[in-house]
Amino acid sequence: MNISLAGRKAVVTGSTAGIGRAIAEGLARAGASVVVNGRSEGRVATAVAEVKALFPDVEITGVVADLATKEGSAVLAAKAPNTDILINNAGTANPKPFSDLTDEDWLGLFQLNVMSGVRAARHYLPKMTERGWGRVVFISSESALAIPKDMIDYGMTKTAQLAISRGLAETVAGTGVTVNSVLPGPTNSEIMSNWMAGTAREQGITQEEAEQQFLKAMRPTTLINRFTSTEEVANMVVYLCSEQASGTTGSAMRVDGGVLRQIA
Ligand code: NAD
Repeated sequence: MNISLAGRKAVVTGSTAGIGRAIAEGLARAGASVVVNGRSEGRVATAVAEVKALFPDVEITGVVADLATKEGSAVLAAKAPNTDILINNAGTANPKPFSDLTDEDWLGLFQLNVMSGVRAARHYLPKMTERGWGRVVFISSESALAIPKDMIDYGMTKTAQLAISRGLAETVAGTGVTVNSVLPGPTNSEIMSNWMAGTAREQGITQEEAEQQFLKAMRPTTLINRFTSTEEVANMVVYLCSEQASGTTGSAMRVDGGVLRQIA
C-alpha cells in the first residue's frame, strides 16, 4: 500500500512535540501540507523549521494558539481557515487522587482535552462535507476504556472524545468524510519521557527501568512490555487519513500494545 496525501492539507493540534509532532511528520512524509500548532512562538517556529528540513518539498506552517481557550481555538480557525485533515491531538494529564481534584482541575482539563476538538470539528467539518472529502481523527487513549484511578478526570475526557467522534461520524454519514479515534497506550512522548526521566533520576535507575516499573505497576496487561513509540501511533493516524482508509469511520483504533484486555 502506497499512501499519498499530496494535495491535502492537515491541521495537527498540539504538534510541537510528542505524538502530535510524529503525526505532523508522518502526514508531511505522505505529502500533505501541515499546520503545526503549539502555545509558544519559539516552540512552534522550531517545530516548523525541523519538519520543513525533513520534508523540504511540502508546505509546513505554524499557528501559535492555546487551544485550552475559546480565543485560542478562534485564532487557529482564523489563521488556518480550511483543512482536509483535522487531528485533534492537543491534550494533557495531571495525575492526582480523586479527592484532590478541584472543580478547576476538572473544567480546565475538559477545556483542553475535549473542547479544543469540539471547537475545531465545528469549524472544519462543514467545509469538509461541502467538498465531499475529509478526515478527522481524535487522539483519545486506552484510558478512555480503562479509567486510571489516579486520573479519573483524564479518563473522563478521553471517553468523551470517543462519544464525540462516534457521534460526528454519524452526523457526516455518506459525505466522504470519516471521523475516527485512536487509542494509544503508554507512549514515549515528551511528557511521558520527562516523567520517566524524573522517576529515573529520583530513584537512581535508568529511564528504561523506570518505564518497566511503570508498566508493571500501572499497565501490567501490556502485551509488548514496552512503551509504544510516537511513530507507531502516527502510523495508524496516517493510515486513517489515507484514501485507502475510506471504509473506516466511527471507529476507535487501538495502538495500546494490547493493554486493553478485549478483542474488539
Ligand atoms: P506531549 O505533552 O508530549 O505533547 C503535547 C503537545 O501538545 C505539545 O506539542 C504541547 O505543546 C501541545 N499542547 C499542550 N497544551 C496545549 C494547548 N493548551 N494548546 C495547544 N497545544 C498544546 O503529549 P503527548 O503524550 O504527545 O499527548 C498527545 C495526545 O496523546 C494527548 O491528547 C494525550 O492525551 C494522548 N495520549 C498520550 C499517551 C502517552 O502515553 N503519551 C497515551 C494515550 C494518549
